[in-house]
Amino acid sequence: MSPPLNLSARLLAAARRGKVAPGAIRSAAAPLRYTPFRARSLCDETRSGPETSQRQFGHSLTEPLISVTKADLTPTKMPMTPTSADDTDTTGYSIDHLISQNGEWADANADWFKRHGHEKHAPKYLWIGCSDARTPANEILGEGPNAVFVHRNIANLVVNSDMNMLSVLQYAVNVLCVPHIIVCGHYDCGGVRASLSRSHLDSRDLGSPLEDWLRNIRDVQRLHAEELTAIKDPEQKVRRVVELNVIEQCLNIYKTGVVQRRRLLTSSVKSTFPQPRVHALVYNPLDGRLKQLDLDMRRYRSEMQAHYDIFAA
Ligand SMILES: [Zn+2]
Repeated sequence: MSPPLNLSARLLAAARRGKVAPGAIRSAAAPLRYTPFRARSLCDETRSGPETSQRQFGHSLTEPLISVTKADLTPTKMPMTPTSADDTDTTGYSIDHLISQNGEWADANADWFKRHGHEKHAPKYLWIGCSDARTPANEILGEGPNAVFVHRNIANLVVNSDMNMLSVLQYAVNVLCVPHIIVCGHYDCGGVRASLSRSHLDSRDLGSPLEDWLRNIRDVQRLHAEELTAIKDPEQKVRRVVELNVIEQCLNIYKTGVVQRRRLLTSSVKSTFPQPRVHALVYNPLDGRLKQLDLDMRRYRSEMQAHYDIFAA
């Protein structure tokens, strides 16, 4: 979605649905024309002509959806520099409050920092979890801050075009040499719930890139459609999608070249097991417990070998 500038929420929502008529909010005074990027627009214009795009999107793609005037960009409407209002926090969760709490926490744990503060950073686990605030990785595992290398995103996804996740994975496997990778989902996951809705088709559309991200979980639902269709209770279905999503993300980790090469290399070392080993966990925010899911790689290997040449010993 394009930057919101200072247009009203209603107008933006309408623009996202393609319901804003060309020129609807255009000012007569020297308008700066602003056209939201649409990846499909050139192809559609080229293939189908403007009439087709008019039918598809409700407007011609040669016309801008929204025009922004110079007046919209004045500092009074869109302040670019801090004002006195920035120093006022009425939420009760100011940064000063956090800094103060941090001081108390550091004092209370001073002995731990004396003992472990200078230790080499050598975590034994890579944790891929959800961004959800209820899933603090090392606390759930009962480990100290040095033990877990953490990557989090919405719904703990392993997406093969996510440079952030791939960089974390590469560093964890090739440099930190973590023997274990944990993918941990959690019940009552907002990302999973959203993926089960039809929001991408109606006015609740979250817009790109969030809807694109959730599509990865919809792919999981398609892969397991038969099992999921048989589950009639909606809450049970959400819980099962959480679990299946974790398992699919574990398989996605196994598919990566970084992990496959490391496992091949370490499989010839007699004193250890092929590393990294991947584990599928689900956290229950209602009682703090972890559930270990069955990740039988021998079974998956037979299904995946022909496509991914998986090494799963
Ligand atoms: Zn979540």
